[in-house]
Amino acid sequence: MRVLSGMRPTGKLHLGHYFGVIKNWIKLQQEHETFYMIADWHALTTGYKKTEEIQKNTEEMLTDWLTLGIDPDKSVLFLQSKVKEHAELFLLFSMITPKSWLEWNPTYKDTKYNLLRLTDLSLMFKGGLRDHVKTFLAKLPYRVEDFEALEELLLDNLSDTLIQALFEGYLSKDTLKELNVSKRDFYDTDTYGFLGYPVLQAVDILIYKAQAVPVGEDQLPHVELSREIARRFNNLYGDTFPEPQAMLTETSKLPGTDGRKMSKSYNNAIYFADSKEEVQRKVMGFFTDPQKLRKGDPGRPEICPVFFYHKIFSPSERVEEVERDCKSGRLGCVDCKKLMLEELESFLTPFREKRESFARDRNRLMEIVKLGSERARMIAIQTMEEVRRQIKVG
Ligand code: SF4
Repeated sequence: MRVLSGMRPTGKLHLGHYFGVIKNWIKLQQEHETFYMIADWHALTTGYKKTEEIQKNTEEMLTDWLTLGIDPDKSVLFLQSKVKEHAELFLLFSMITPKSWLEWNPTYKDTKYNLLRLTDLSLMFKGGLRDHVKTFLAKLPYRVEDFEALEELLLDNLSDTLIQALFEGYLSKDTLKELNVSKRDFYDTDTYGFLGYPVLQAVDILIYKAQAVPVGEDQLPHVELSREIARRFNNLYGDTFPEPQAMLTETSKLPGTDGRKMSKSYNNAIYFADSKEEVQRKVMGFFTDPQKLRKGDPGRPEICPVFFYHKIFSPSERVEEVERDCKSGRLGCVDCKKLMLEELESFLTPFREKRESFARDRNRLMEIVKLGSERARMIAIQTMEEVRRQIKVG
């Protein structure tokens, strides 16, 4: 079966990418004919103002793909912009895709009303306020039953207030500069390209006649749209495209150092490119159970991200031991983090060495992506010849 997936070039990959996507890709490449695309044109839909980083990010991401085990002998690794046929099919699909199909796309609907940017902004405000709120709550003279819920509630309210203040013009220019935001940013994604990006995604899949697309639940509407576009094309011009199936993938959402989902934008990620010292610094700064202030206090491993990592990286006897000793208070958080760091390091070290060797050989990287893009292009050319024949134009 032919399977296609892709990623926008966001630069270095972190542990969250590995457990969320790459691990599954590695499994798929053993069983199927896999195409993995660096979606550099997609990076323009929201990042068209800052294009200078795309090339560097592409190289970083490709280095990590190869480091982690995406094998160019098993999978076709290619750069979207090197297969210009994507642009031609995008134009043709744009002619037959009703606008309403795109306006109902949940991501677009959110962004149309600037909610996506607002969410980013809210997360940014919350990131900056979290420590202050924690300190404030820790000083409360009474016991808080659900510390986390109260913390989130306060953060929600404070960030809403700041957003309101931003729009009402209460925040000074210096503050806005410091926060690196401007009201104009909110309108930057209301473009034709952004409305149409699911059509480009349909092209990415259908131009290779991929039969399956590994996706998380939030991406299901995009695969459905690709199926609808394929059906519409086939009805208008005759059978050309297979309808791709969504391959729902169960992935574990790895928490970052602050307990939230690991993400570059939260600044809470552990990267494969991080040095041993950087990983150590990050692990020792991990968020833990806020009620466990010192060794001797009983902890709650079930809410602690350090324990989550133990469950992934430590042997089962160690996990049981940590759980028991955390609950009883016998284990302190510093020692617990050191134990986790040991296991995490044995996982990361081989990747770190491999990564350095790929990163040193830029020509090899470029050759891999060039060959992969040529292989992808051969198929795209064939599809386009068929498409032009079917529609009798071009
Ligand atoms: S002892 Fe370990 S599992 Fe328990 S709260 Fe501290 S870091 Fe988390």
